[in-house]
Amino acid sequence: MGLEEAAPSGFLLTTIEDLVGYFRKGSLWPVTFGLACCAIEMMAAGAPRFDLSRFGMEVFRASPRQADLMIVAGRVSQKMAPVVRQVYDQMSEPKWVLSMGVCASSGGMFNNYAIVQGVDHIVPVDIYLPGCPPRPEMLINAILTLHDQIQNEPLGADRREIAAKAEAAALEA
Ligand code: SF4
Repeated sequence: MGLEEAAPSGFLLTTIEDLVGYFRKGSLWPVTFGLACCAIEMMAAGAPRFDLSRFGMEVFRASPRQADLMIVAGRVSQKMAPVVRQVYDQMSEPKWVLSMGVCASSGGMFNNYAIVQGVDHIVPVDIYLPGCPPRPEMLINAILTLHDQIQNEPLGADRREIAAKAEAAALEA
């Protein structure tokens, strides 16, 4: 019996996705992008005490073209919103967004006209991290959770839609 008959359908594709996910999650390149007080905790996470480099992320890039992870650390003002979007657009695919802290995720205490009430109005968010501010350990935990997400997500430009449909199907089942 040949390999194609012996292997279950989709065997090869699944293996390649797993392999690509493994390598992707181990080499995220965050863009340097602090918006407010949450950024202080993000910086601490990258410094020696918390040592984000243990998880393959020691280099924050100053250029979005060299980055694939945006950590939105702080509240997003209306004035800053187009800049956030432009930085996101300049990042190459595949890319991910982590919304750090309650302000970035929902506006937080700044329920007013000057602040965007959630950065997901501007860019697609892959993971939300609550807290004000979240401590560096919480940020590292969120990144490790994102690693799991990256490991299991499908390949392709429409990976977010595919993953969302699979999740909806799993909930219905
Ligand atoms: Fe600052 Fe708290 Fe808002 Fe973070 S969540 S930007 S620490 S007010």
